[in-house]
Amino acid sequence: MFQKMFPDIIGPLYLFFGTMGIFLLLKRKIPGIKTRITFLVISTLLGLTAFTPMFPVQFQQLMMGISPGNKPIVAVAAIIFLLLLSTLIFGRIFCGYLCPVGAVSELAYLLKTKKFTGRYGAVISTIRSIAFATLITLAVFWGVSMLDWFGIHAFFHMNTVSPVFYVFLSILFVSVFIYRPLCRTICPMGFMMSLISKFNIFRIQTEKSCTNCTICETKCPTDVPITSRGHNGECYLCFRCADRCIRDSIVYSSNKE
Ligand code: SF4
Ligand code: SF4
Ligand code: SF4
Repeated sequence: MFQKMFPDIIGPLYLFFGTMGIFLLLKRKIPGIKTRITFLVISTLLGLTAFTPMFPVQFQQLMMGISPGNKPIVAVAAIIFLLLLSTLIFGRIFCGYLCPVGAVSELAYLLKTKKFTGRYGAVISTIRSIAFATLITLAVFWGVSMLDWFGIHAFFHMNTVSPVFYVFLSILFVSVFIYRPLCRTICPMGFMMSLISKFNIFRIQTEKSCTNCTICETKCPTDVPITSRGHNGECYLCFRCADRCIRDSIVYSSNKE
């Protein structure tokens, strides 16, 4: 509805300056909840007004051989490649703060209510692998756009007459109780970034002052093995772990530090 209020260049610019800005912020100090919410709100609003289509949808369109939003296919492929590269270096800053789908899901989960957490990472990763294989097969061989069923486009275009708008709304409702269900199962970018992110250079780590009490791990919605300095590729840089560490022992730093 409000799309096209901004020129197309706003997407790549926001991606570049947003990633750099958040990276520099994280290197200095883990930002407080107000700063984090500010980024999430800005990304959600930009999703409603400027970004069309979103990266997950653009990736699917590339698989279908369609030029996303009438932009040159090569340019979109190059930006997606750079996004994956930036994930390898900086971790999932894009997913954590800049992607409108992730931002609105994160805002939903911030609502204070009972959460359904648990060690179901293996189940989620199986569903995600099946969803990714299905999406690619449908897109490449039949030209079918699986993401359309989940209403991402309809929601961010405020297309309230489309039934799939309400599918996305339902996912958003589930996101209040379960952490980022769409990101962790359906999104093809999420699948690729979670694989890449296992090897990222900058990540959440514990400092020497850590006493190994593991409170931070119990607060992580995606079961990242923080204290063992391991990585499951599922850190969205939400900093619930850091918020709960009374020793201030969690930092965002290079895995060589
Ligand atoms: S997993 Fe997909 S939908 Fe979720 S934040 Fe990342 S790119 Fe966006
Ligand atoms: S909560 Fe802090 S002190 Fe406890 S394990 Fe986590 S980083 Fe270490
Ligand atoms: S709680 Fe910490 S380790 Fe878990 S996703 Fe959030 S930032 Fe990453």
